[in-house]
Amino acid sequence: MQKISPGSNPNTELVVSSEGGVNRQLFKSAVNIRTQHFGNEVYPRGVVEISNYCNLNCLYCGMRKDNLTINRYRLGHNEIVQIALSMEQHGIKSIMLQSGDDYTYPIASLVKTVHAIRKETDLRVILCLGERKRADLEAMLKAGANMYVLKLETPNPILFQKLRPSTTFERRLNQLKFMKKIGYQISSGFIVGLPEQTHHEIFEGLMLLKDLRVDAASVSPFIPNEGSPLKNEPFGSLELSLYFLAQMRIHLQGVYIPAVSAFSLLHKDGQALAMNAGANVITINFTPKTNAKQYLMYSEKRNPVSLERARELILSLGMTSSILQIN
Ligand code: SAH
Repeated sequence: MQKISPGSNPNTELVVSSEGGVNRQLFKSAVNIRTQHFGNEVYPRGVVEISNYCNLNCLYCGMRKDNLTINRYRLGHNEIVQIALSMEQHGIKSIMLQSGDDYTYPIASLVKTVHAIRKETDLRVILCLGERKRADLEAMLKAGANMYVLKLETPNPILFQKLRPSTTFERRLNQLKFMKKIGYQISSGFIVGLPEQTHHEIFEGLMLLKDLRVDAASVSPFIPNEGSPLKNEPFGSLELSLYFLAQMRIHLQGVYIPAVSAFSLLHKDGQALAMNAGANVITINFTPKTNAKQYLMYSEKRNPVSLERARELILSLGMTSSILQIN
């Protein structure tokens, strides 16, 4: 048995075994459940980071408003639609439009883009655009958006408030409930290893996701971001993140769980390890290269997952996917 203490919080120790023992059994159960629901299929999700402008000042994020060291960009309608068309040609099944909480990106333009993608491709549209007005959420749903990703980040409302000073946990939770009610599929999840976070909280968070009847969910290890106040904090633990991913699969059963790119920043095979802990979705980055450098999640050095790398990964796991059937 090995003791793992994530983040900088000494009272969050959890005894887990990273080699063999408890975890190997846990991961095996998680993969069995995934296979019951999805067979041997990896679901490919294309990501395009449409804007790195942000109105918020989250302590863990390099795109925060007060970081004046990055060049801000916005992709326009035509560019995004072109990217969507190319994703479809490569066998991708859904497109995720992600951005900072950019409240000045015109909603009419977002609506037009969602509508065009749904009309011109067979892609499902997933939005990850932060906290939004109800009217805007309704408009994007009406335009054809299928799913909205809004992570709760950490389930403790007090810690949440410290890390996200201009918003509240309740507000984020209410947005999720509202979106589920009006007909979005919803996705949420947590960053594992934030300073002061406890394991108990993360477990409670998993149960909350179950109550919310999320359609997809994720855990992401904490990555200290350049340009953020938490840049010198320790990385979240890989083992612990995998542990919670497996628990997520076991407790939430047939939900879509991505192997998020943060796993590959902790370990070169991090996403393969996440798949082996029960994930069934691989996210593939289609943001134009010059912009991707400025999408300061994690660091300029982040190495977004390419189509080629995703294919190699799926083959190495002996799994199948629509991106393998197309050249
Ligand atoms: N503005 C949007 C999108 C943010 S980026 C929103 O707030 O929902 C998407 C996700 O990246 C976040 O929800 C968060 O879970 C993750 N993320 C951001 N900074 C991170 C960090 N330092 N470590 C790990 N994950 C991080």
